[in-house]
Amino acid sequence: MGELLRGKPVADAVMLEVKNSVKELKSKNIKPKLMIVRVGEKNDDISYEKSAVIRMKSCNIECEVTVMPEDINQEDFIVKLKAVNDDESVHGILLLRPLPEQIDENSVKYIIDPQKDIDCFNPINVAKIAEGDRDGFAPCTPTAVMEILKYNNIQLKGKRAAVIGRSMVVGKPAALLLLSEDATVTICHSKTENLEKVAVEADILIAAIGRAGMITGGFVKEGAVVIDVGINVDADGNICGDADTESCREKAGFITPVPGGVGSVTTAVLAKNVLKACRLANNLN
Ligand code: NDP
Repeated sequence: MGELLRGKPVADAVMLEVKNSVKELKSKNIKPKLMIVRVGEKNDDISYEKSAVIRMKSCNIECEVTVMPEDINQEDFIVKLKAVNDDESVHGILLLRPLPEQIDENSVKYIIDPQKDIDCFNPINVAKIAEGDRDGFAPCTPTAVMEILKYNNIQLKGKRAAVIGRSMVVGKPAALLLLSEDATVTICHSKTENLEKVAVEADILIAAIGRAGMITGGFVKEGAVVIDVGINVDADGNICGDADTESCREKAGFITPVPGGVGSVTTAVLAKNVLKACRLANNLN
């Protein structure tokens, strides 16, 4: 039976580092601040925003939320986002995505200064991950995946990793981060043929699909590490992942649970990224 890799101890370790850094900054009279920007009233956004606000409060990072109406036009959106970006008291900006259809992401993705872009919306930060330049910001969720692997001493060098999902928020950056740790990475998506055959060869299997319980034991190599990024609601209204945890555990050596896995580390990484942005803004390393 595979062991559960819980997120809490990982988040606690990240937060210890964060709290020490906040203390140090405050002793220099520097107040780290996060601005969350939300457009509309989507439940997923509000629930992530709530946990982010609680997390920032727990470590004394100032946190404010800018809410824009769901039907805001692109011109007004740009004006408001630029104003947030120009606010010198704000060190990190989290823009909740996806944005409503009337906002063209390609026209707005350069607005957030790369040094404040703590969830990797600006293509400059995407390019930095692709180059393996650690000065930039990778998105919080794939970074949380890497923190879990690191905390649990999972060897990546030379290992085969398969990432199922190729979104810019999770799948692609997760693949690039694994590559930068010398894993041999395959990226899978909805058009991948023989998905099960590709997945079952992986020593590290990352599920970032958005399909409840799709990954079963048949996709898992004996002893593999399964990281379940999915957050779905099942037919009974319960939160569940993209992996069928019990079925996968029969083959996996380790697997992250949902809830209580990757999701619980994401806001800790968000806090860590706010501090990194704050240190950059104040020329501290
Ligand atoms: P997207 O919908 O943007 O991307 C889903 C990806 O899965 C796409 O690349 C898609 O392929 C692929 N896919 C869909 N169906 C299949 C299939 N049948 N076989 C193979 N691949 C498939 O989702 P996100 O990347 O934003 O999120 C993925 C999951 O992670 C979701 O459950 C989401 O809720 C969760 N999530 C969790 C977070 C956390 O903090 N834990 C944060 C963000 C997301 P294609 O590109 O071909 O369409």
